[in-house]
Amino acid sequence: MARFDEFREANERYAASFDEGDLPMPPARGVAVLTCMDARLHPAKFLGLELGDAHVIRNAGGRVSEDAIRSLVISERLLGTEEIVVVHHTDCGMMTFGNEDLTAKIKEDLGVDATGRDFLPFSDLEQSVRDDVETLRNSDLIPDDISISGAIYDVRSGELREVVRD
Ligand SMILES: [Zn+2]
Repeated sequence: MARFDEFREANERYAASFDEGDLPMPPARGVAVLTCMDARLHPAKFLGLELGDAHVIRNAGGRVSEDAIRSLVISERLLGTEEIVVVHHTDCGMMTFGNEDLTAKIKEDLGVDATGRDFLPFSDLEQSVRDDVETLRNSDLIPDDISISGAIYDVRSGELREVVRD
């Protein structure tokens, strides 16, 4: 709980000077970003996002999982976003294991059989971006008028490189 206590202290300072409580719910820039949970990624900073600008959906790898699609559909249908940007990154932890490895570790650590569960690891970074953009394009829940692009963020240089442009 130590971190939680630190967070509460930090939040007291944040809230003391907070003055952006009147922002509308729909993202001002009409975009949803899907990216990795990696601690070295600060999407708001490397994409120039201000509070209220965008939906940022994060999971392990920034993959187009069923739950990512759930969030994107809500973002588009209910909150007016019209563009999706998928951002994967260099040195991603998702390239360090396979489903069999994690399934074995879960069995060893937890005694639970996770056979058949896909944790969506990948071995080719650029291909993973292309695959996820393609999955979105092929989803009947994401209509053709939604713009979809894909990029790779470099954790060493801070640069964003285009992989797929709509
Ligand atoms: Zn990652």
